[in-house]
Order: sequence, then C-alpha cells, then structure tokens
Amino acid sequence: MSKKVVIVGGGASGLIAAIYAAAGGASVTVLEQNNRFGKKLLCTGNGKCNLTNSEIRKTSYRGTTPGFAKDALHDFTMADTMAFFSAIGVYTKNKNGYIYPHSEQASTVLELLEMKARSLKVKLKSMEQVTAVKNQGDAFLVFTDNWQYEADAVIVAAGSSASLIEGSGDSGYRLAENFGHQIIKPLPALVPVKGLDSYYGKWAGVRVEAKVTLEINGMTLIGESGELQMTDYGISGIPVFQLSRYIARVKEEGLPVNLIIDFMPDFSLEQLIVFLETRMKGCPYKRYEDLLVGIFPKKLIPILRQDTGNCKEQAEKLKSFVFHVDKTLGADHAQVMSGGVLTDEIEVHTMESKKRKNLYFTGEVLDIDGACGGYNLQWAWTSGALAGRAAAKEDKDD
Ligand SMILES: Cc1cc2nc3c(=O)[nH]c(=O)nc-3n(C[C@H](O)[C@H](O)[C@H](O)COP(=O)(O)OP(=O)(O)OC[C@H]3O[C@@H](n4cnc5c(N)ncnc54)[C@H](O)[C@@H]3O)c2cc1C
Repeated sequence: MSKKVVIVGGGASGLIAAIYAAAGGASVTVLEQNNRFGKKLLCTGNGKCNLTNSEIRKTSYRGTTPGFAKDALHDFTMADTMAFFSAIGVYTKNKNGYIYPHSEQASTVLELLEMKARSLKVKLKSMEQVTAVKNQGDAFLVFTDNWQYEADAVIVAAGSSASLIEGSGDSGYRLAENFGHQIIKPLPALVPVKGLDSYYGKWAGVRVEAKVTLEINGMTLIGESGELQMTDYGISGIPVFQLSRYIARVKEEGLPVNLIIDFMPDFSLEQLIVFLETRMKGCPYKRYEDLLVGIFPKKLIPILRQDTGNCKEQAEKLKSFVFHVDKTLGADHAQVMSGGVLTDEIEVHTMESKKRKNLYFTGEVLDIDGACGGYNLQWAWTSGALAGRAAAKEDKDD
C-alpha cells in the first residue's frame, strides 16, 4: 500500500511537495482553503513570477539559523529547480540573475505545476480549509469543515500572513504549535518603511538611485544599493525591502534604528566636496540654492539642501542623510514574513519535524526568509521538494 500524504496548502511549496511525493509513489491529497490553488504565486514578481535567482549567496537567506537554508539548498539546489521546471515545461529567461518564465506569466507556472500534479494522480481539493491535524496512533487525522482525511504523513505548506492576498494567514504556525513547535514571532519582511519626520509629502513620488545603510543603536551595519522610492509616509524600493526584516526585528526589541542614505554613492566625500566647489565656481551667476539643480529631481532639492552655504557640509548631508525610522508597514504590505517554525526543531535534509515523525513543514511557515530576487520561491521549491520526497518514503521500521 502506498503511503497516504496530505498536504495543507496548495501554494508554491505545497504543489512541488505534492509532485515529489506522488513521483515517489505516495497517494497525495492537497487541501487548499481558497477556491483555486497558488493565489500568491500568481502575484509574484508583479505577475511575472521571479521563480529563482542564478546567484545564491550567503546573505540570501535570513532566520534564527540562516545556515539551515544553505544546507537544505545543498540537497535541492537552484540547478535542481531549473531542471525541475524545464522538465514540466517552464522555459525560463534570465534577467541579470533573476529567473522568470519566458512567458513572464506566473499563471503559466501555476498551470504547469497543476498539470504535472494531476498527471501523477494528485488529488487537488480546493475550498478545504484545514482546521486541525490530530494524531491517530502513528498516523494522522486532518480535519476540514467538510471532511476528515486519514494520513500517514502530513506536510504543512500553509504559508504566512504576509500580504492581503486571499489565503494569507497564520494557520500553519498554529498547527505547528499544536505539535509542540516553537514559533519565532512572525514579523513583516520585504516591506516599505515609515518615517518619523513631517516632510515626506514633499518627496512623495520621487525615485532615485542611492545606497541605504542600516544604523542600529548608533552603529552602521549592512548597506544596500538601488532605486529608492520616496513615499508620503517614508521610503520604499528594493534596497529598503532588503533591510526591512532587520528593522522590524530590531524595532520589536525597542532599539533605535535609522537609515543613512548616501545620495551620491559613486563619489567619496572628498570627491563630492571638490565636485560641488567646482560647480559653484564654474557658474558664478547661480545662487547657492541652485547648486543641486541638475543633480537631483526638483522635489528632493529643498529636503537635501544644506542651508549653511558650505560645500563640505552640503556634501556630508548628501552622503549621510538621516532617515528617522518609525517602523515598517504591517504584514498586509509585506511580501513575506520573517520568523516561523524554529528550524532547530526540523531535520534539514527532509523538513521533517523532530517532534513528530512524518510531520513536515515547508516554505514560509518555517523561520527562513529570503532576500528580494526569487529567493523566497527558491526556498519554497527546495523545502517543498525535500519534504515531498521524504514523505513518500516508507518508514524504515514498517
Ligand atoms: C506580492 C508578492 C510578490 C512576491 N513576489 C515574489 C517573487 O517574485 N519571487 C519570490 O521568490 N517570492 C515572491 N514572493 C514571496 C512568495 O510568494 C512566497 O514566499 C511563497 O509563495 C511562499 O510559498 P508557500 O508555499 O510557503 O506559501 P504560499 O504560496 O502562500 O501558499 C500557502 C497556501 O496555503 C493555503 N492555506 C493556508 N492555510 C491553510 C489551511 N488552514 N487550510 C488549507 N489551505 C491553507 C493558502 O491559501 C495558500 O494557498 C512574493 C510575495 C508577494 C505577497
């Protein structure tokens, strides 16, 4: 008799887990609470689905134990992911390391995942919200409002509460807690940041290339470069997204956080002073107030201008502009959540719980969050594939 595997959640990690479990000979049922599968997947990459990244670095994954992701990615690599998608028919394109389906339509990725799952006789059941998972001897009973499913193995692939996309929620964490797992408090990640000052209405709508560095308790830490998007509440854009998970976690501890913005990252301070002085001298007919015209969008100039008339002080302000952080926006504005099931309690090669045999966790429900750039979906593919593969295996002592 093949092993009965029930998967809670039909998103990215749940679908790939289903395919690997079914390919391994299991009889697989996926229970999805929404009226269709993969609603979050459909929204990824602005609907284009940035499904992985050709360069996976040490810093691409974060969590209480980020090395957990690194080790798991050894067992199911980015190359394995590419081979998998190629095998199910997703032809990809590489845009500066960001991998997308050639169609640039997330819906086609979802369609091909569903086709493959159906071809392996996976039962895809929508409108089935899992309300509880209980032990039944060595096996499980999985409860929905409509039914109860017997399972030899359960994979919890229920995602997180990030975004307002239908189906986002914390039920995965609750199911884990019921089996004694510790949950690292989920907090928003890949999310815009709200500031404490009153001028933001004036810079709203501006986009500018800059470097942003995180300053915690007066100490400058990691920096990120790229396009910043100024908003009427503060600041957004990929560099801010990349730092936001740290901001949310540090704010939770009550420590003061600032973002130091370098608006002229291609210049050293000394070069910038000379540059500004040369501009002043070269156009003596201009007022000091006009010094920045032609360098920055006009809306930014009153905010960046140093009114002392001193080029050194102006250069310092442009290189070390202090953005006073209030907090990140909430989970509803976040692309992912940091935190989740503590990975010390999970087997890294299989995603199996160390607390309950044949119980697995995948994707965002785990305490791993990726940087922007396809890393979160890569985590869903890796953790899902490993769990699916392991869940299908017959227990050694059977
Ligand atoms: C706007 C947006 C854009 C993004 N873009 C990208 C991108 O381009 N690249 C990238 O790498 N990442 C991106 N992400 C992140 C990525 O989508 C997630 O990290 C990934 O989908 C997580 O996979 P998962 O399987 O853990 O969860 P999900 O894909 O969220 O799937 C979880 C599923 O479980 C279901 N579920 C939950 N609870 C229950 C229950 N009790 N019973 C039954 N079903 C349940 C949910 O309805 C959902 O369908 C983006 C996220 C957002 C919000």
